[in-house]
Amino acid sequence: LSDALSSYAAATEVPEPQIKNALNIDLAQLKQALERASIQVFYQPKIDLSTMKVAGVEALARWKNTQGDWIPPSLFIPLAEEHGLIGDLTLSLLEQILQDMNTWWEQGNYIPVAMNLSAKSLAEFNLANEIIQRVIRQGIPAHFITFEITESALVVDLPSALATISRLRLKGFGISIDDYGTGFSSMQQLSRFPFSELKIDRSFVHGAPERQYLRNILKSAIDTGIRLGITTVAEGVETEAELHLLKSLGCNQAQGFLLARPLPGRELLGWIERAAQ
Ligand code: C2E
Ligand code: CA
Ligand code: CA
Ligand code: CA
Repeated sequence: LSDALSSYAAATEVPEPQIKNALNIDLAQLKQALERASIQVFYQPKIDLSTMKVAGVEALARWKNTQGDWIPPSLFIPLAEEHGLIGDLTLSLLEQILQDMNTWWEQGNYIPVAMNLSAKSLAEFNLANEIIQRVIRQGIPAHFITFEITESALVVDLPSALATISRLRLKGFGISIDDYGTGFSSMQQLSRFPFSELKIDRSFVHGAPERQYLRNILKSAIDTGIRLGITTVAEGVETEAELHLLKSLGCNQAQGFLLARPLPGRELLGWIERAAQ
């Protein structure tokens, strides 16, 4: 938990004590936030390592409660899952993402977005259909959206995860295996799922230039992606040495504080423009 807190503090630039105060989150507040749609989406750029241009963004949920405290997603996502609210939360975040995408499109920026889907939401009846309907209604082509699903989410309820994922993939959405390396999937299991992207967990990226065993894991993860013929993305890139190593290992994309922090939707285009200069 303390690890989650410090990473959240870094991601939001909110002092840690202020977040700690907010640990007392309650269900009533979460329900209210959902009704008022006050959980926001921030976007963290992902950089293409061959061109160093923005390849897309990851949408990350941000909740500032009524006391003005930031509650980390590592706390409120599990709470929403526990109380059957994750489906509603996911769809509310998706609506915001689609609106933001439309705003960017109107300004000529076609930015692919990756959204996280939690383990429990994968098992929700009809989630895939609800997602598909909303995307069609907003007129965004499916291939501009990727769903990130953690390796561990797959084992929660394999048949329904496989059904939801396959349905989304058939419609043309991208599917990313998130936090790759932290679960226990074998090559054989992976090949059963129609993944289009492999996202390597931060724990193998951070510190890899100095540690041989991490470097070996990193290399084998990237090689797995290459063998599966899918895009490889490394998360949590914090140093130039890590970036350099990823490039030399043939990783396709990188994401992390070195490159960009998660930003509110209205700041993203400005950031991209400045980065291109
Ligand atoms: P994740 O999917 O692995 O997301 C990456 C997390 O790493 C984000 O934390 C991001 O802010 C943080 N991060 C990015 N770059 C760096 C870096 O260079 N160093 C470090 N230390 N951290 C970095 P965040 O936003 O607190 O999200 C935590 C987790 O909460 C996410 O992990 C994801 O599993 C979950 N989550 C966030 N938003 C959503 C959502 O909308 N829906 C669902 N279901 N889960 C979400
Ligand atoms: Ca993710
Ligand atoms: Ca991840
Ligand atoms: Ca991770």
